[in-house]
Amino acid sequence: MSTHANDYDAALTRARTHALEWLDSVPIRPVGPRLSADDLLAGFAAPLPEQPTDPVTVIDELAALAEPGLMAMQSGRFFGWVVGGTLPAALGADWLVSAWDQNAGMRLATPATAAAEEAAAGWLLDLLGLPPGSDVGFTTGATMANFVGLAAARHEQLARVGWDLAQNGLCGAPRIRVYVGAERHDVIDLTLRYLGLGAPIVVDVDAQGRILPDTLAAAMDATGTAGSPAIVCLQAGNLHSGAFDPMRAAIEVAHGRGAWAHVDGAFGLWAAVSPRFRQQLDGLATADSWATDGHKTLNVPYDCGMAIVARPASVRGTFGVHTSYLPTDDAGPGDPFERVPELSRRARGVPVWAALRSLGRAGAIDLVERLATHARTLAEGFDRIPGAEVLNEVDFTQVCVSFGDDARTQQVTARVLADGVTWMSGSRWHDRAVLRVSVSNWATDADDLAQSLASVERAAAL
Ligand SMILES: *Cc1c(COP(=O)(O)O)cnc(C)c1O
Repeated sequence: MSTHANDYDAALTRARTHALEWLDSVPIRPVGPRLSADDLLAGFAAPLPEQPTDPVTVIDELAALAEPGLMAMQSGRFFGWVVGGTLPAALGADWLVSAWDQNAGMRLATPATAAAEEAAAGWLLDLLGLPPGSDVGFTTGATMANFVGLAAARHEQLARVGWDLAQNGLCGAPRIRVYVGAERHDVIDLTLRYLGLGAPIVVDVDAQGRILPDTLAAAMDATGTAGSPAIVCLQAGNLHSGAFDPMRAAIEVAHGRGAWAHVDGAFGLWAAVSPRFRQQLDGLATADSWATDGHKTLNVPYDCGMAIVARPASVRGTFGVHTSYLPTDDAGPGDPFERVPELSRRARGVPVWAALRSLGRAGAIDLVERLATHARTLAEGFDRIPGAEVLNEVDFTQVCVSFGDDARTQQVTARVLADGVTWMSGSRWHDRAVLRVSVSNWATDADDLAQSLASVERAAAL
């Protein structure tokens, strides 16, 4: 072994040992952490040592300090928020990405990661049925993927009315009206703040949280003039119900008025992979941009989102950088840094390549359909618990269940979390406390479902 490799060998070997110990413990440990951040800080925040410490000691110490404060998010019995697990190929690829240490922005400088990401992007567009040739930027997550899509929208909607945003900035620019459904994810409002677009115009939704196209049309006609800059932000996958906005009708309303149509599909865009769900997303491909996550339904490690934009020029108009110091590959399909906010970043598209390569088309379809089938099994199990009521139509991966009044639901939720067998988030939906379940982990199996249901049943019986 070269001395260079030797410098890393001991630390990587220890890291591998600790990683396997962690993974080994995931199916049998309580899902929740044992200690709070305040408890853990005492261990981590020892005075900064004056002298260096050898890497093996650092890795051993890190693993020991962290262990009691780790949440078993990769557990097949973790159903909190919308959190995926990690496919083995994706984790292995993620380790290689760190070992290779490529600054993944430039095709000419880091051709291997650029090629792997371009290949992953092509597979992704194919699987999701989105227009070939769309730009795919690899972001930290769906928040930033939404930011990229909406930034491209802002650029193009202003260019359309003759306003050069790059030159003139936003001050004095024509107002861009942004329309959202009442149950959009809060990060849409956040990204609009990043973009200086202000608060959106909120459009009513149906009982499952799907935007109403006629109401959208009426709202657009009442607030904008024909052809004034506008963005319609749709949702594929409601956090509480899993429902999808009626894409074709809503996008027609948007395009009919010259607006850009963007889709937040953080977890739900993946439904388009499956013949079973594709019909519910009919018209999806007619939108102008889409945001999704890798670290949710696709089960790659954090951090990984994908910003997909049908018209590359609008993304590059916002994020392109041209300077003599950065060698751009003008003959190729554009450089990775032109599609995302960051210049330097890790090659987070490589684990996507590995995940898709390991799943294949059949595996990707099976993954999405299995998550949804598990959600249905959980919903049917909840329905059998006396006093429990599933509040949503369980068409995809999300389930919201109430156990009576708010106090009772919160009590059951607290007991479930204290039991430690499973983790489900408490939330509010339609002004009611709910126990919210998101099935997002490839590793969840029938035994996990049975154990989790038994835990909820015990909590509800007390
Ligand atoms: C998770 C989620 C987001 C935010 O994604 P991050 O990956 O956490 O940045 C946005 N929209 C929806 C619908 C989500 O489920």
